[in-house]
Amino acid sequence: MHAQTRQKKKNLLPMFVITALAAAAAGLCIVLWHARAEMQTELETCQQQLDEAILEAQQVRQELTDLQQEYDKLLKAQDSTEPSGEIAYQTLYPELMLEPLKGYTQENKVYLTFDDGPSERTVEILDVLAQRNIKATFFVVGSNLKSERGQEILRRIAEEGHTIGIHTDSHQYRSIYASVEAYLEDFEKVFRKVYEITGVKPEIFRFPGGSVNGYNGAIYQELIAEMMRRGFSYYDWNVSSADATGNIAASTIEKNCISGVRSYRRSIVLMHDSGAKNSTVQALPGVLDTLIAEGYEFAPLNRETMPVTFAYPS
Ligand SMILES: [Zn+2]
Repeated sequence: MHAQTRQKKKNLLPMFVITALAAAAAGLCIVLWHARAEMQTELETCQQQLDEAILEAQQVRQELTDLQQEYDKLLKAQDSTEPSGEIAYQTLYPELMLEPLKGYTQENKVYLTFDDGPSERTVEILDVLAQRNIKATFFVVGSNLKSERGQEILRRIAEEGHTIGIHTDSHQYRSIYASVEAYLEDFEKVFRKVYEITGVKPEIFRFPGGSVNGYNGAIYQELIAEMMRRGFSYYDWNVSSADATGNIAASTIEKNCISGVRSYRRSIVLMHDSGAKNSTVQALPGVLDTLIAEGYEFAPLNRETMPVTFAYPS
């Protein structure tokens, strides 16, 4: 009986151990499950926070892009107004732009100028000048350069050392003085023709009708400013031969020129070399020979010659 009881007790021990171990294992399982659940929650929270941070970063990036665009727009707007309010015609014909002028020179000379050529009269004038070794200035008209003959005479002007200045392409007052743009358009045409025919880029010009005339009242100040900004010098005159007057006698032209030159220390003399001006050619030898005898010196204009210009009307 005792032995039996002892035997039963012996069998109970492993059972107890197993049960205890099982209980411990179950407890550990519960602890681990809890820990895992907690970590899972924490991980999910972290994930959520990360998602929110990414979203926020994207929003900040978008704001930065918007700001950058706004800034670029402002810069662009500033650029277009910055060059002291650039005017549209200032960007036209960029080839019509000379090196800045260093300054003017002023000499007591006689500057003979002939407008409206070339023509057959130009050839005769060139002969008279060549005989006396005098250089002059020719303000030419583009519409006279269409013919081979006109181009040939233009080349002769350049080859013989005279100055070629721009007068106009069309000589139509109403159209060329309609606006600064219209003037530039006309100017560019004759400028290009002269350059193509002679290889010389004109640097001086004379406004048809003079710088202040009955057609350019609305624009002359703006126009003169624009042409000077581009570096071109323009020349009016202080002595007029008055050869534009119809049927003027050669003797009157001669008298006008000589008395006019005698009145000034330096003279810019207006004459014409258009087809009908025979009396100008007839007057020229007398004008030159008298003034040469009186000691006057002649020179062609260049862009550094101090201009004679009309005063702005008050
Ligand atoms: Zn003219």
